[in-house]
This record gives sequence, structure tokens and C-alpha cells, in this order.
Amino acid sequence: MVRSALLSEVKPHYGDLKNYVGGEWRDPAATEWLDDTNPASGQTIARVPLSTKDDVDEAVQAAAGAWETWRATPPAARVRFFFTLRDLMEQRFEDLSRIVVQDMGKTIDEARGEVRRAIENVEVASGIPSLMMGYGLEDGAAAGIDEEVVYQPLGVFAGISPFNFPVMVQFWFWPYAVATGNTWIAKPSEQDPLASQLVFDLIHRAGFPPGVVNLVHGAKETANAILDDPDVRGVSFVGSSPVAKAIYAKAAAAGKRVQCGGGAKNVLVVLPDARLDRLVPNMVASCYGCAGERCLAGSIVVGVGDIQADLRRKFAAAAAELKVGYGLDPSVEMGPVISAAHRDRVLGFIDRGEAEGAEVALDGRGLTVPGYPGYFVGPTVLGDVRPDMAIAREEIFGPVVGLFGADGLDEAIEAINRSPYGNAASIYTSSGKAARDFRVRVRAGNIGINVGVAAPVAYFPFGGMKDSFFGDLHPQGRDAIRFFTESKVVITRWP
Ligand code: NAD
Repeated sequence: MVRSALLSEVKPHYGDLKNYVGGEWRDPAATEWLDDTNPASGQTIARVPLSTKDDVDEAVQAAAGAWETWRATPPAARVRFFFTLRDLMEQRFEDLSRIVVQDMGKTIDEARGEVRRAIENVEVASGIPSLMMGYGLEDGAAAGIDEEVVYQPLGVFAGISPFNFPVMVQFWFWPYAVATGNTWIAKPSEQDPLASQLVFDLIHRAGFPPGVVNLVHGAKETANAILDDPDVRGVSFVGSSPVAKAIYAKAAAAGKRVQCGGGAKNVLVVLPDARLDRLVPNMVASCYGCAGERCLAGSIVVGVGDIQADLRRKFAAAAAELKVGYGLDPSVEMGPVISAAHRDRVLGFIDRGEAEGAEVALDGRGLTVPGYPGYFVGPTVLGDVRPDMAIAREEIFGPVVGLFGADGLDEAIEAINRSPYGNAASIYTSSGKAARDFRVRVRAGNIGINVGVAAPVAYFPFGGMKDSFFGDLHPQGRDAIRFFTESKVVITRWP
């Protein structure tokens, strides 16, 4: 690696993090702290507080206290804060992106893409005055009796988010929650909380009234304190399926609104008529982008019919070419995984796959990046994978791909539909009929046709089925507004 090509870090160290509550930065009551490391270097770059129940109480009180005034602020006035925030985010776009690289490990282009998506959600939520409108009908109930539906905010909402998109995922939720007149508590991942510090600095500068948007750092105990608080009316969660399911059950039992995105095991199906030379780079980008730590990443590639040998050769060759290193080097195409523990888990899957009889067509074990002793795993391709193997069934969330063959499209679709996950699935084909069949029959929330990362932009909901989503309304887009509001029917007689 050429060190001089590196983009500069915003800061080498970010100190002890604070919570942002009631419009100010506060020292948490936490006595336990975690080291936050740069996944490429392994070096500690901040300390994260494990905020206590008292810290959470303080944030909930601030959010609840701000709600009556905020909900009475006209929607058009509420969104003006978002216009300002959008401009501030544009001004600090590059810093936000670089912090994501430093703290999470993805490449600079991937980080810029993530920050762009966050900004797009601010833009969509800025349309709340139109998006939140109700509807009415003159003489709807009877002659002279009009009927109308209005949408109103509920109160305090909270968002608990995963490590892999430390900026974007919170923005799937909070702009919609806050623009519709709720107040908000964010609990980002304890593994990469740094970008949230800058985001909240910008929220502060944008002038949101104190208590409307709050930040509490911590891990699962902090999340549970949020869930246990009776004043929290709803929870938006994204993370692994077991946690998603548990949070869904807990929040629903307490009568809270809840939406929980879970894990994934996404399949890319390649038909014999796929234009491999044009499409293999897209498959490789799906599987190894963000080092496989993307809930839309391809994890299994199914070659249908006689394309299998060609696909395996071309896919493994393209994966082997990826440049791995620190994401602040703009020429790097794949960064490290998030932590030493996660690296060891991913390596364990490769060992298990080999022990279960998979062929290691490309081995990412033992990869080293000179000057960066962090948590790297090289791109890995496992061939001859069978559906019963652990590597075919479980979410690995790393740069490890299993290849297997199917005799026909029906077999591939059945394999996808048998999986407990239903986040994303893609087909590569030149056949419109096959693509349509796939679209209709596959049970997954995000479908790609010759697209390996079927990521909905902010105008569309981010889907998910089966164990990949628990709840009713997906995040993002205009449907998200319904999650953060409740409808009321007003019947008016003019005697
Ligand atoms: P995780 O489930 O470990 O953690 C997610 C969040 O929940 C974090 O804020 C964490 O502090 C908190 N948490 C962890 N355990 C908890 C518990 N027992 N009770 C309450 N809170 C708890 O997930 P992660 O490792 O940070 O993220 C990776 C996972 O997220 C993968 O499974 C990935 O597929 C999934 N993901 C899903 C989507 C989607 O849209 N469906 C998007 C991104 C990531």
C-alpha cells in the first residue's frame, strides 16, 4: 500500500464520547466504557460510554418535555430545520464520509454513498407537509356531514441501529419521525459511534429545539432501558435477526409501535443467458462491497444449468483482483471487517465450510495488509456448497461467498424461498419472462434484476420479509410517515 495516497483522517482520536440530550452535550453517568477501534489499524480512536438507565431516563424526559411544543409547531416550520441540516451535511459531506471509513472500515466511495443516502432521506422528509396530508370527503357521512382523516404524531420514538451503516440507518427513521412532529432518541451501534457525534453537532447547529433530537450511546443494556421506558411510544430497529425478533416481541408486548429490520442471506441467481462479462463485476461488487457487511450483499451465487463452470471461473478471478486495504486510500476496493471478534467468526465459517466439504476456490484466510494490523479477511469463494451446509444457511456478514448449482430456475427460487431470511434476491438474465417469474415468486423484500445490490433510494421503502423484517411498515419513503403517525377521523356536521 502506498501510504502517501491516503486521504487525511478528520482527527486521529475523538476522546471520551458524550451524549446529546436536551440540546446540549452531557457527560453520561456511565461507569463502563468500551474502546472504539479503527478496524484497519486496530488502534483505539475513542471511548464509548455504556449509558445507564439514568442516562436514558434523562433523554426520554427531554424528548417528552419537548414534544408538546414540537408537535404544535406547523409542519412547514418543522421542515425548515431540515433544510438547514441538509446544507450543513453537504458542507461536512467529506468529513462525515471519512469518519465512517475510519470508524467502520468501508471504503471512501462506499462511505460517500452512505452519507448521500442519509442526505436523501432528509430531502424526502422535507416534503412532510405534503406527505403527511390526510384526506376528506364532503357529505362523506351523510348530506351536510363531512368526514376527514388527519395524521398526528405519537410522542417519543427511538432508533437502535447496527454498525454497518453508522450514518444512513438512523436517517431511515428519524427525519420522518421528527418532521411528522415526534421527538427522537438515537442509540447508534457501540462499535462505530463516531459519525453520530458529527451528525449531532450538525443537528445542534441546524437549531432544532432542545430535546427534539437526542443521542444516547451504549450497547444492549442501553437499548433495553429505552425499550423498557413507558414514555417511548415506538421503536425503529435494524440489526441481526435474533435481536430484531426479541425487540419486536418486547416492544409489541408493551404496546409500542415497532419496526425491526433483521439479518440476511441473499442469493444471486445466474441464468445461462446472463451476459457474464458485463455482469460478473456487478455480482462481485454485491458480494464484497463493504467487505460483505451489507444486509443487501450477495452471499450465495447460484449458477443455473450449464453456466456453472464459466461463472465459477470468472467470479473467482474477479474477486481475486480486489484490492484490500484501508478505505481512506481511494484505490482500495475492500476494507476490513468491523472487529477482531467478527473477523474470527468469519474465518470460522470458512474453516467450517471446508470441513463440511466445500472447495476453497479463493482463500481469504491469512491475508495481511502491510502497515495495517487490523481486522482483514480477503475475498473468499467457496465452491461445491450444498444447501445444508452452515455457510449456505447462516448469515456470515463478511467477504465469503458460497457457489452452488441448480438445474433450473424453479430449483433456485425454491432454495431462496426455503431460507428463513427474505431481505434481498437478485437474478441475472436476458429473459424478461424469467425475470418476471423471479419477481413474482421470490419471497424477499428487495428484488434485483441484473442488479446485485437492490437498495431502494429514499423515495421507496426499504423492504424485508420473513426473519429479515418484523413489523408492519418498512422504513424510508412515504409509507414511513404512517409508522410515525396515527390517524384520526373527524366527522363534522354544519347544522
Ligand atoms: P446487532 O443486532 O448486534 O446490533 C444492532 C443494534 O442492537 C446495536 O445498536 C446494538 O447495540 C443493539 N443490540 C445488540 N444486542 C442487543 C440486545 N440483545 N438487546 C437490545 N439491543 C441489542 O447487529 P450488528 O452486528 O450491529 O449489525 C449487523 C446486522 O444488522 C446484520 O445481521 C445485518 O444483516 C443487519 N442489518 C439489517 C439491515 C436491514 O435493513 N434489514 C440493514 C443493515 C444491517
